[in-house]
Amino acid sequence: MALDSHDIAIIYGSDARTMTRSLIEHADLKNMVSNRDAHIVIKPNLVVAKNSGEGATTHVEIVQTIVEYLLAHGFTHLSIAESAWVGDDTRRAFCVNGYEELSKNTDIPLIDVKRDTYQIMNKHGIRMEISKTIMDCDFLINIPVLKGHCQTHMTCALKNMKGCLSDRSKRQFHSMGLHTPIATLNSIRCANVVIVDSLNGDLDFEEGGNPVATNRMMIGRDSVLIDAHGARLLGFDIKDISYIALAEQFGVGSADITKANIVYLNKDEINNYSRPIGRARQLLQHVDERSACSACTGNLVHALARLDEQHLLSKLQAKISIGQEFKHIASDGIGIGHCTRLFAHSAYGCPPDALTVLKFLTSIIVEQ
Ligand code: SF4
Repeated sequence: MALDSHDIAIIYGSDARTMTRSLIEHADLKNMVSNRDAHIVIKPNLVVAKNSGEGATTHVEIVQTIVEYLLAHGFTHLSIAESAWVGDDTRRAFCVNGYEELSKNTDIPLIDVKRDTYQIMNKHGIRMEISKTIMDCDFLINIPVLKGHCQTHMTCALKNMKGCLSDRSKRQFHSMGLHTPIATLNSIRCANVVIVDSLNGDLDFEEGGNPVATNRMMIGRDSVLIDAHGARLLGFDIKDISYIALAEQFGVGSADITKANIVYLNKDEINNYSRPIGRARQLLQHVDERSACSACTGNLVHALARLDEQHLLSKLQAKISIGQEFKHIASDGIGIGHCTRLFAHSAYGCPPDALTVLKFLTSIIVEQ
């Protein structure tokens, strides 16, 4: 089907290749690009030279599947462009994450934006140096990781565009507090389509280290709408992330999630939490998890992190139940998701997003 700006398609799974293929076929990616000679740039998130298992960087399998699909449909002018954050080497990030091998096997060039030439743009009083490769391309595919961020709370489609800048402009963006410059950048050059890697994005830090398995990917055309939905999945209200509303104000897209057409291509049936790692393990000490789907547990982990940031987590008096083994159990306890609908207190959804869980748990703590 052709993807409209208000459409978001979501898929769950453990195989990034199959998931990517299903998403781009569902969205009919080949027909989004007007002609086979178009220069298509793929922009992953390779902020640091760390493997995607750490929760910071885009899985190479996603990019590889997109490249193979585009080549098979006769598109030959493809590039992969990215810039690691200030202080890290993009070429190392390409290498560590398998992009160098992908480039070698397919002859698709890797553009290190730190070494690119720049187009100087001025808007809203902000001067920025944007990669000429990205400014001049015909079609831009943005592949962000949905994850936490130490300064802006979250990063996804809109913020991933910062990797299109020179290091000098990145520094300047930080000195300006990021929100207005990010929204402005997207009003100058925005992605034509966004494919979100939400397989195991980090809990609260863009550099990774605390990956939270959610086994989820999304596709959409509106970067603002994608970020508005992504915020909910991490337990944030849109108003917590100023650049989303600013980008809407600047005409980049719509933050009105109530008008989004969200389609689920399948159901989550994977459980990745038999051995939680990092901070997820600490947070899950508050949880009685029994055969829960990974997105459900991942959303709960994000909600618990938000609760902890608000100093409310220690006020929870009982463990929270989650998982399919609770389906037929009636209890006076606290449960998450449709499987715990017979509980006295249960957060609705299958899976409920982190913002819904956060509001539900907050109301219980207030009532206690
Ligand atoms: S409510 Fe139950 S079935 Fe639905 S996502 Fe959560 S654990 Fe899975």
